[in-house]
Amino acid sequence: MRTVKGRIHSVVTGGMVDGPGIRFVVFTQGCPLRCLYCHNPDTWKKSGGREVTVAEIIDHAKTYKRYMEASGGGITVTGGEPLMQPDFVEALLKEARSLGIHTAVDTSGFGTEEARKRVLLNADLVLLDMKSINPSTFKKVSGVERDSTLAALAELREAKIPVWIRHVVVPGLTDELEDARELARVLSEYDNIEKIEILPFHKLGEFKWQELGLNYTLGETQPPAKDLIDTIRQIFREVGFTVT
Ligand code: SF4
Repeated sequence: MRTVKGRIHSVVTGGMVDGPGIRFVVFTQGCPLRCLYCHNPDTWKKSGGREVTVAEIIDHAKTYKRYMEASGGGITVTGGEPLMQPDFVEALLKEARSLGIHTAVDTSGFGTEEARKRVLLNADLVLLDMKSINPSTFKKVSGVERDSTLAALAELREAKIPVWIRHVVVPGLTDELEDARELARVLSEYDNIEKIEILPFHKLGEFKWQELGLNYTLGETQPPAKDLIDTIRQIFREVGFTVT
């Protein structure tokens, strides 16, 4: 398993926002989605980044094992979209778990059924990015249909794998309260969801779009008001979720 190769954009040691505790975060290269607010468009191209082996990543991560253990952290695989490289990510997760390292995968859920099962069902925790419950908004935000994400949710419930939902609130795009209520209602049927993270839209990645010559269409969009974020968080709390 240690010899399996994959392409990564970068690694970040000491990550604090992609799962519990202090994390070694692996950004995989390649993503077929085109989220309007993506702050990592430099991970989109499959052929970009650099080739690594599972051994290289694990040996690097192991040097932080003490910090990970003391903080209840571990390894998080994000991207890009980890489901684009099932051989590599599956091997990486299995190797980490064999060493007792907690694993999380941050994903849009977009991938083949085989990739979803090989990757997501081998993680201790899945951070699932739910763009919208509204099918047309989902497509508008990401460029793809929501079906694979919903299938991933069902598969994770079946396998009893803990899930944290991430939902980015973009004014004029994903800020409809009706959609938030519907999303809360749908998600309340999943007893494996431990937490909902409501993330206010920000433009920290805009400069990368410009550097890559891409057209960033949210340049005039402002971050959501605090009141709106509070209201949306409350909608999820009312159906019993822990919300941050
Ligand atoms: S799924 Fe993530 S990496 Fe891919 S386009 Fe969307 S935000 Fe960017």
